[in-house]
Amino acid sequence: MTFAQLWRELEPLGRDQQSGGYRRYSWTPADAACRAWFTAAAERRGLTVEPDRNGNLWAWWGPKAPNAVVTGSHLDSVPDGGAFDGPLGVVSALAAVDVLKDKEFYPERSVVLAAFTEEEGARFGVPCLGSRLMTGAVDPGAARALADDAGVTLAEAMRAAGYDPGLIGPDEARLSGIAAFVELHVEQGRALAPLGAAVGLAEGIWPHGRWRLGFGGRADHAGTARFADRKDPMLAYARTVLAARHAAAENGSLATFGKVIAEPGGSNAVCSAVRAWLDARAPDEATLRATVTAIRSAAERCSQQDGVTLTVRQESHSPLVRFDPGLRDRIAGVLAAAGIEAPVLPTGAGHDAGVLAARVPTAMLFVRNPTGVSHSPAEHADLADCEAGVRALAAVLEDLAGPA
Ligand SMILES: [Zn+2]
Repeated sequence: MTFAQLWRELEPLGRDQQSGGYRRYSWTPADAACRAWFTAAAERRGLTVEPDRNGNLWAWWGPKAPNAVVTGSHLDSVPDGGAFDGPLGVVSALAAVDVLKDKEFYPERSVVLAAFTEEEGARFGVPCLGSRLMTGAVDPGAARALADDAGVTLAEAMRAAGYDPGLIGPDEARLSGIAAFVELHVEQGRALAPLGAAVGLAEGIWPHGRWRLGFGGRADHAGTARFADRKDPMLAYARTVLAARHAAAENGSLATFGKVIAEPGGSNAVCSAVRAWLDARAPDEATLRATVTAIRSAAERCSQQDGVTLTVRQESHSPLVRFDPGLRDRIAGVLAAAGIEAPVLPTGAGHDAGVLAARVPTAMLFVRNPTGVSHSPAEHADLADCEAGVRALAAVLEDLAGPA
């Protein structure tokens, strides 16, 4: 099957008709539809599909043996996400298997296609939850208690989907069976277009994290409460957003408030509380710390000024990732031999590959994003570039899983 045919099968699942974006949140019906599609597509190719204890899906080509070469990505999305972030890596993996089967290649090492769960953290707040649970980077008890915006816990959501949340946690047996992990992903940012390259190779991932800020004030009447008498948490929050932008720009970092909840949320009232999520990223750990410290003290200052309380809690941290240089050089050689010139790029986006890099030799391939826009319905990659990505991934799998 061609890449385009596979892509068309997955395309309608979990798509919101109004926004045109995807709402493929983990352990929802949209997620179940994506999982069922992946399972059926892999089984049609003669692969054996099994979920792991943490809800990630593994499709084996060849026997379940150690030293497996793993490729894949995730199927979940951010709210109104694009079609490519995650699914491109999963669809390309299936298409690469077809390319290799057409060539009558039979892997000497098992090739495994993986689809990780809750990569975006859109439902339970912790990105790369499936891979982090697997490597032991997240405590299983804390993970079970994570709740979505409606108060449904991960444990409840997994149970409702037919999974046993009691089993989640580190999966040493599975990790020790992986010789290499290669994740293909749509480029997030716009570095490849000016270089005229369809495919890139990742150098590393910026350290990044999420912080939850709570501003507590006092609900009041929008028409009668004098400014001088108000304790308005929205003001402190708004000032903090501006300060964060300033502090991040000064430090050469990135800071984003993309999610905010005003409580109780009346349009004719001063709100009683504002909950907001800060996402901060920087080229190195010290710069990230400096940026977040500056934002935190600005938030304290602003809260004092407006007479509101402040709480700050870190929800996640992803350390600096340097991908395996030996694997990267080997892949660069394979791609060069296949006539694919792949520049090496850093990225500010987190990935399951970044989590697995702490435990197994890991590499990433990027497929050109002509506008650079991601986490948006406008996210795009040209079909010809996706096909180049499939060729690149097939060449890499052929090398890594072929005769030694
Ligand atoms: Zn992704």
